[in-house]
Amino acid sequence: MALVPTKTPKVVKALFPKYIWNIDTTEKVIYLTFDDGPTPEITTWTLDILEKYNAKATFFCIGANVEKYPDIFTEILKKGHSIGNHTQHHLKGWKASKDVYLEDIEKAEDVMRKLVLNSKFRIQNLFRPPYGKITSKQGKAVINKDYKIIMWDVLSFDWDNSVSKQDCANNVISKAKEGSIIVFHDSLKSATNMQYALPKVLEYFSEKKYRFKALKL
Ligand SMILES: [Zn+2]
Repeated sequence: MALVPTKTPKVVKALFPKYIWNIDTTEKVIYLTFDDGPTPEITTWTLDILEKYNAKATFFCIGANVEKYPDIFTEILKKGHSIGNHTQHHLKGWKASKDVYLEDIEKAEDVMRKLVLNSKFRIQNLFRPPYGKITSKQGKAVINKDYKIIMWDVLSFDWDNSVSKQDCANNVISKAKEGSIIVFHDSLKSATNMQYALPKVLEYFSEKKYRFKALKL
């Protein structure tokens, strides 16, 4: 846990200026993101609680999961959230060649585009690298394909079993601010922490008159 900070330091953001770490705004807006779904029950639970707070978010879906659960994928879109690409097989950029990496992104893109064909819905050109790991070559190639690479301002550490669910909620509550992009996961692995922390985060920032918006760039 000590290796990766909860809040992305300015120096890291400055090193990778082409990646998006937060949205530059003074408005009380927060951008929740959910990686690794769709996942039965967890994603639908997430959609329900977001709706309760009139909150929109962005879901970075794994193509293979979209293939398995197309109905949940469509449900995300119907509720007005944004969809981004998180590769077909959750590839770790540092361990894949540029070509393999791009092919995996394209595969996920195909799977998702087919499902929105002839509908009013569209997929945003947003990409989040699994594990946050992407080489500069891969990054350039992805940007050349007209994707915006979305990193984060605050990590909830919901996937980390050594982080208590209270700390997971406090991580986000203490570190998020106007324009923050926050990472949660709608996965089984993260469910215990996420399902505790997300309602707390929604409650806390709603009381402070923040709005939760989907990324549309
Ligand atoms: Zn992921």
